[in-house]
Amino acid sequence: MNTRHAGIGMTSQRTRERLIGRLRAQGIRDEVVLAAMNAVPRHIFVDEALASRAYDDVSLPLGFGQTISQPYTVARMIEILRDGKPLDRVLEIGTGCGYQAAVLAQVAKEVVSVERVKPLYERAAACLEEMGAPNVSLRYADGSAGLPEMAPFDGIIMAAAATHVPPALLEQLAAGGRMVLPLGAPEQHLCLLARTAQGYRETRIEEARFVPLMVGKA
Ligand code: SAH
Repeated sequence: MNTRHAGIGMTSQRTRERLIGRLRAQGIRDEVVLAAMNAVPRHIFVDEALASRAYDDVSLPLGFGQTISQPYTVARMIEILRDGKPLDRVLEIGTGCGYQAAVLAQVAKEVVSVERVKPLYERAAACLEEMGAPNVSLRYADGSAGLPEMAPFDGIIMAAAATHVPPALLEQLAAGGRMVLPLGAPEQHLCLLARTAQGYRETRIEEARFVPLMVGKA
């Protein structure tokens, strides 16, 4: 950890434990997910000016009109993705600050995350480097095309909302794989898409609020 975070670093373990208590109260049950949330220092991923709020259960501005997801949302998406089972290779669309990728890295063997905004991609890479997350790799690209060269994925998480599931992502989901994403506009719902031997099964989980999925690179 560098000196930029020295002050908050001392209190962060205690505040993180409080955050875990709140996540339990909000209904997160998967102990593996709770342990992963407890292990990742969120303050590394937020702006210095906001670091004191890093463990509040709120979304925070990331710059470039984007937000870092609320801890509850990160935990809930990963809980649904995992379904109580270990994950092999996971694709995340929308790296943002890299926090969710860091949490995913605790529960999956390998994580690949794609971001379309160059400065965000660069900052996330620096934060993940600072934390030390050797099983995460980042790509600067439009994530709606997925990453065909690394497919299939056991799990796909999309951190931005679309009106329909990008077809490339459907194809890149392994048989038996699960995809968690916000769908719909203006009202959004967090949805689970499970790929079965027969096809895809979609389940609506709960209301959600995400930034929209955008086209192209920026
Ligand atoms: N998982 C993030 C949340 C990021 S918010 C975190 O933990 O902070 C959603 C992100 O999706 C934004 O950074 C936005 O730039 C990105 N995004 C939107 N459309 C995209 C696309 N087509 N491809 C890749 N990233 C995209």
